[in-house]
Amino acid sequence: VAIPVDDAEEIEPALESARAAVRDGARLVEWRVDALVDRLLPDRAAEALACVQRLVGESPAPCIVTIRSASENGAFRGDDTDRVSLLEAIGAGEPAPRYLDFELAAFDRSANLRQKVRLAVAHDRQPRDLKTSLILSSHDFGSRPADLQKRLAAMVVEPACAVAKVAWRARSLRDNLEAFELLLERGKPMVALCMGEFGLMSRVLAPKFGGLFTFARGTDTRETAAGQPTVRELRDQWQFDRIGPATAVYGVIGWPVSHSRSPALQNAGFDALGVDAVYLPMPVEESWESFKATLGAMIDFAPLTLRGVSVTLPHKEHLVRFVRERGGTLCSLSERCGSANTLLISKDERACALHAVNTDAPAAIAAIAHALPGGSREPHALLADKHVALVGAGGVARALAFALTDAGAEVTIFNRTRERATALASSIGARAQVGRASVPPPRGSRFDVIINATSLGMRGAETEGRSPLPDDFEFVNDCVVMETIYTPRLTPLLRRARDGGATVIDGSEMFVRQAEAQFRVWTERDPPSGLFRTTLDALEPSS
Ligand code: NAP
Repeated sequence: VAIPVDDAEEIEPALESARAAVRDGARLVEWRVDALVDRLLPDRAAEALACVQRLVGESPAPCIVTIRSASENGAFRGDDTDRVSLLEAIGAGEPAPRYLDFELAAFDRSANLRQKVRLAVAHDRQPRDLKTSLILSSHDFGSRPADLQKRLAAMVVEPACAVAKVAWRARSLRDNLEAFELLLERGKPMVALCMGEFGLMSRVLAPKFGGLFTFARGTDTRETAAGQPTVRELRDQWQFDRIGPATAVYGVIGWPVSHSRSPALQNAGFDALGVDAVYLPMPVEESWESFKATLGAMIDFAPLTLRGVSVTLPHKEHLVRFVRERGGTLCSLSERCGSANTLLISKDERACALHAVNTDAPAAIAAIAHALPGGSREPHALLADKHVALVGAGGVARALAFALTDAGAEVTIFNRTRERATALASSIGARAQVGRASVPPPRGSRFDVIINATSLGMRGAETEGRSPLPDDFEFVNDCVVMETIYTPRLTPLLRRARDGGATVIDGSEMFVRQAEAQFRVWTERDPPSGLFRTTLDALEPSS
């Protein structure tokens, strides 16, 4: 856990934060004292030393002392000679930290600084018996530095450097793969991390590739680099303590994806069944090119052991194209509707096989069938000849239209953009008709089932609070109304439908069922009954 300490008054609360982080599972504390030291040097060096020694002495776990310079996003703006003199006193003093961190750029700048830093730490040529080791570090907050390899080589050949640390802001998920490659080829103990929203994978999977440590923040402290999870998140959400070389990797690819509840559900499933796997959010920008390059690189980087992904907006059609281009196989539904949300990656020593599946539509169909009278029967038997109003003609609506037609339902498609509705209707055959207006269905329509497969009413969307049906739409009593949206649980559509006497199904039914189906595709096992439901309910109370 990295704990910033900005002035002497903050020492006590900082120690308390560190103790809390250690209770949460942190095993090493980084004291980030740059701002504190910046206030005190050069005139009050003895006071600065006393503050740092108090932190070291009372640290609840072995610690790193870092006085990060402003040139690498730290708060220390003073003179490097003063900074190094203080580091020397800290390293050679008592109590001494386990590590001192110093930037390679400053180390490289002058022979005098190098000499003083070497004197402050334990290494083969150090004549004194010291307890502190040196971390040489390099940070780039813009992107991957062009001379990354050169920087690492300089750290590796430096005899006083015990740990080489490189961190840079990732521009895409692919940067993480390079960090993993560096770790696998490391010439000495190493930390290689990617910062920012694309970098979470490098922080969580560090133990899989032999990274010496990762950095997290305390629950009540600010991050010291972009994208740091809290210690608790690392442990509880990202299974950090269980991750090792053999851990299989899964994730959800989408844009945006940080809000996704899928990681919570799938990780709970892996944890409950003792599956050595972790599931991560994988942000991939909208374009086909980004999708193809990123997913391709992750599959081809064998040490990642990527075994499956969920794919969400806007990439479901890209997944089908990707699998076709790579000679993989598709389930019959994704083959016909052109969109899939689940990828299974099976690998043996010689080959990698890809299989894509659509679990969205079967999940929605099962949820509807469950709510219809006689719900324990085969979904197909229940849906035969039912009149279904399907609002929307996007990816989910498309898959649903095919699956509903397969089940024998009479589908009417309503959509804002008429051409999309017409195109979808013609591709599913004679049973579908295009709605007269787009949204909403004409007054007086009688449908056995109404499904909202648009984003109308979704929390955070421009259309939050809106319903795809007119306010005075009359629901008949035996009508089933299903939402695909699951935040909020009770959308305006469902509230009106419920008040109008219809049977309502919120979007979480579909979400939980499609996630359970994905878990089965990947593990060939059922997740514990009710686990995904209770995990989602804990995150999204249904009120
Ligand atoms: P999509 O491909 O982008 O399609 C969006 C649909 O919504 C289109 O039909 C679009 O109409 C319509 N729409 C968007 N804004 C509208 C507006 N202001 N007024 C009228 N219509 C509007 O999205 P998708 O992947 O099909 O997803 C549809 C919904 O399903 C989303 O709400 C998503 O959250 C939800 N979903 C739920 C689950 C689950 O497990 N519960 C899984 C996946 C998706 P146009 O054709 O006119 O643009």
